Order: sequence, then structure tokens, then C-alpha cells
Amino acid sequence: MARANAAYYATRDPFADFTTAPEISQAFGEILGAWAAVVWQSMGRPDPVILAEAGPGRGTLMADALRLIGRVAPDFARALRLDLVENSPRLRQLQQVAAGPLEATWHDCIEALPDGPLILLANEFLDALPIRQFRRVAEGWLEHHVEHGRSAWHASGPPPGPAGRRPMPEGSCIESCVPALELVDWLCKRLRAQGGVALFLDYGPGEAGYGDTLQALKEGAPCDPLAAPGEADLTAHVDFPALSEAASGVRVLGPVTQGRFLERLGLFARIERLVQALPQGQGGALVEAGHRLTDPVRMGTLFKAMALCHPSLASLPGFEEPGFRDTAA
Ligand code: SAH
Repeated sequence: MARANAAYYATRDPFADFTTAPEISQAFGEILGAWAAVVWQSMGRPDPVILAEAGPGRGTLMADALRLIGRVAPDFARALRLDLVENSPRLRQLQQVAAGPLEATWHDCIEALPDGPLILLANEFLDALPIRQFRRVAEGWLEHHVEHGRSAWHASGPPPGPAGRRPMPEGSCIESCVPALELVDWLCKRLRAQGGVALFLDYGPGEAGYGDTLQALKEGAPCDPLAAPGEADLTAHVDFPALSEAASGVRVLGPVTQGRFLERLGLFARIERLVQALPQGQGGALVEAGHRLTDPVRMGTLFKAMALCHPSLASLPGFEEPGFRDTAA
């Protein structure tokens, strides 16, 4: 359904249509940098280690993370090699600028990352991957197709992955993101064999469900997903429960809400430090940005954090709560 997205990212400035967490507050990327440094310690300080980001956008998250890592974790800064997964040549140029003097290597897909222990960050990457939509009917399943710009539903097999096994009433719609399921499958094998962690932040439900979540944004406003292929940003909610269920051989942490995750990592302590460095009375916008990321009615609850990691990593910062799933047994 959402294949038009490759054309969209290759030709347009997505940040005219939406704002992501790293663009809202520099503290977001900074505390993810600190998170990566702590995780590197728990991994036994491998040298070299691959610090990778999937879909870095303008490179803001990684620039903020690297600046903090350079200051507070110089050993990690020396050990890391930077690998960025990005298929838009235009965005690669912006990421080059953001990486500064650090040498980065770009890849078209995650499977092309070099071998070795891995710390992968991905913010709002999974929601950009194409989904397939299905409808439950008395006779079985229909799949949503687009033919000459028009919607059509054709008889099909069940939705691929865990979504296809969910009980749901007749007439309802459910989505399957095959590239995300394949990514999880690849990462599980990779993390199990070579060590490391993958952290995903994105929006989507924490509990298994169903529904039509495909949305299109053009110039900041919602529009018909079929109206202007390649000109609007197409996204769908990330089915975290399906990805968790699809994982095997690794530890799955979360999903937890972004609000709780960021608060546990000390987002507001970091913002307080930034505010203190400003002239008196000028920190209001920084605090407001923190609330935008964490308040339940804004980005705090809809967005989730979920990590996959090697089974030897008992816990990771931000996920300190009962309820992790160990699929390594
Ligand atoms: N992480 C950034 C940008 C999110 S937008 C932020 O938080 O601001 C999605 C990003 O993923 C863009 O950089 C887009 O070009 C990239 N992307 C989307 N689909 C991709 C794919 N299939 N392979 C590689 N990169 C992809």
C-alpha cells in the first residue's frame, strides 16, 4: 500500500510535513546518546562497536547523541564506528553535515550493516515502511489493492505474521508490515550471533488490536492517502505487539510509553541543565518541548519504546519494570 513513500523521501523535505522528537528537543538525541553509552558498558565495552541509526532524517538525533557521547563517554566515542541506514540521497547529504568530522558509512538497508556488536537506534523509521491492509469477511480475507488510483479489495490469504492469528470481528480491518517483520527476524539472528541491541521509538499501540491506521500528510495537513502518491508522507501505526511476538532468540524489552521511557532516562534533568546555561527566564521553550515529548495527551503515550537485545543483557535503561519477554529459551 505505502510503496509511494520511497519516492516521497527521495524528492521532498519530509520535515515540512511533520516534526519528529529529535527536531523538537536536542535533549532527546542527547539522552539516547547517554543510553547508548550505558548499553555499551553493559555489553562489555566492545571495541570496535557499530553505532547505527535507521532512517536518520536530517541527522539531528545522531548529531545530538554524538556530541554528548564525545563529552561524557570518550572511550565509547573512540570505539564506535558510525553506520547510517538511509535510502534517500537528499537526506544522506544532510546527515553528512550532521555527522561533522566523524566518518560515517551509509547503507541502503539494515541487512547491509557490517558485522560486529551493534547498537542500533531507530526513531520513526518503522512507521514509514509499507503496510498491507486486510479485511476479515465471512469467507476468509480480502486484501486492499490500489488499481489506477482506486481502492479495490480482492480475496487473499490471511495477513502475514502474528496479525493474521488475532481474533477479530467480521468486517474489520487489520494491517501487516512485512518489511518490519523481516527486519525483526534479521535482527534477532544478528543480535543473537554477534551481540548488541536495537532500540525502536515510534507511534503505535502497546496492546494487540486491529484497525485502519494508514494516514497521509501533505504540507502538514492530513489528506487522502491515494490522492497524490509520492507527494504525501504515508505512515501507519507500528504494531509493536506483532513485532514482539515475531521476535525469537533475543530478549524483548517493552513496549513502554515514550513518556515513561524518557522520564526514566532523565529527560527533564537534562533539560534542567540546558535551562541553567541560558539567561534567566529563557528556558520556557525547552521545558515545553520536554512536555510535548512526554505528556500523555501529546507524544508521551501514543509513542512507544521497544528494544531487542542479546539475551545476556539482563536489563536496559528505561525498561526497568517487570514484564520483559525472553524469547531466547
Ligand atoms: N529518524 C528521523 C527521521 C524519521 S523519517 C527523525 O526522527 O527525525 C523516516 C526516515 O527513514 C527518513 O530518513 C527516510 O528517508 C528513511 N527511510 C524510510 N524508509 C526507508 C527505507 N526503506 N530504507 C532506508 N531508509 C528509509
